[in-house]
Amino acid sequence: MTIAFFSCHPYEQPFLDAANGNARHQLRFLPQPLTPETVALATDCTAVCVFVNDALTRPTLQALADHHIRLVALRCTGYNQVDVPTARELGIRILRVPTYSPYAVAEHAVALLLALNRKTHLAYQRTKANNFTLDGLMGFDLYGKRIGVIGTGKIGAAFARIMLGFGCHVLGYDKLQSAVLQELGVEYRPLNEVLAMADVISLHCPLLPETHHLIDAPALARMKPGAYLINTSRGGLLDTPAVLDALQTGQLGALGIDVYELEDEFFFADWSAKSLPDAILNELTGQPNVLITAHQGFFTREAMEQIARTTLNNLTFLEQNQAPPDSSLVV
Ligand code: NAD
Repeated sequence: MTIAFFSCHPYEQPFLDAANGNARHQLRFLPQPLTPETVALATDCTAVCVFVNDALTRPTLQALADHHIRLVALRCTGYNQVDVPTARELGIRILRVPTYSPYAVAEHAVALLLALNRKTHLAYQRTKANNFTLDGLMGFDLYGKRIGVIGTGKIGAAFARIMLGFGCHVLGYDKLQSAVLQELGVEYRPLNEVLAMADVISLHCPLLPETHHLIDAPALARMKPGAYLINTSRGGLLDTPAVLDALQTGQLGALGIDVYELEDEFFFADWSAKSLPDAILNELTGQPNVLITAHQGFFTREAMEQIARTTLNNLTFLEQNQAPPDSSLVV
């Protein structure tokens, strides 16, 4: 089939070409995001393939249906950007990549935590300028600290295991408790207790109506003063202005984020020559105790290979009138 890949960057293309064994499918790589206006670029395609910030809203889904495109593959796990009832109503099938290296994202969350704690990002800037002083760079031992993991699914579990390896005491919160993690030493507690007890909170639950702004002003007030907050899951889990207030009062010690609620306008693009029309993001990038990466948690060679392989395999299944694995089917 002919597949149009929207929001497709040059670094993704070799992985997609390699996964397209014997050039079975015709791949069209497009840098544009998928919007009602850009759907026309896929006019003669059977399927479109999109990434995390391509919002599959009613107008976009309607435009796809108008172009007789009823197959959408997401090159990601989360599908909070999809209007699922509308896709169902219009008979559009939505596929995702239910699993790929959870280690990629978990290790990135650890990287954010380690950098913030030991101020590696500040030390790097200093030594680049031949400033070899240590003032202001003191961190703390992670050994023996309490780490709160919100959402102990695939990525949260990988993160929890790494933290257990550091000698941390891991507190978990999830609607489903993992017996395997409990056996390894993870202690499940209600959310409010995890918030109140942990020195570090790392978010690994999906963005759902019930988790939207999970970390808001009351939740921040419950946290241990000076606690660190890491979010590699979805930006909408944080009430970002409330988080900024907590950073400014010192209630929050540091913030590491790979995701931002309004990231679709900024992430994956170069804004360095323009002023950023987002006061909150501007404030955050200016804070020394804030480390932001632009949604790169997934970005390892192993994860890219798995994303490309699963995406194309799922489309091949459908082309051959076979069912892809249930966990890949959103609609
Ligand atoms: P998963 O489905 O394996 O795990 C999610 C866990 O969250 C599950 O255990 C589930 O029970 C739990 N959960 C659901 N609702 C909850 C709630 N209200 N409170 C607490 N826990 C709840 O998913 P995963 O593969 O571990 O991915 C987790 C999230 O990571 C994804 O939803 C996605 O948003 C994010 N992600 C980010 C990147 C990145 O590049 N930064 C890449 C992949 C995934």
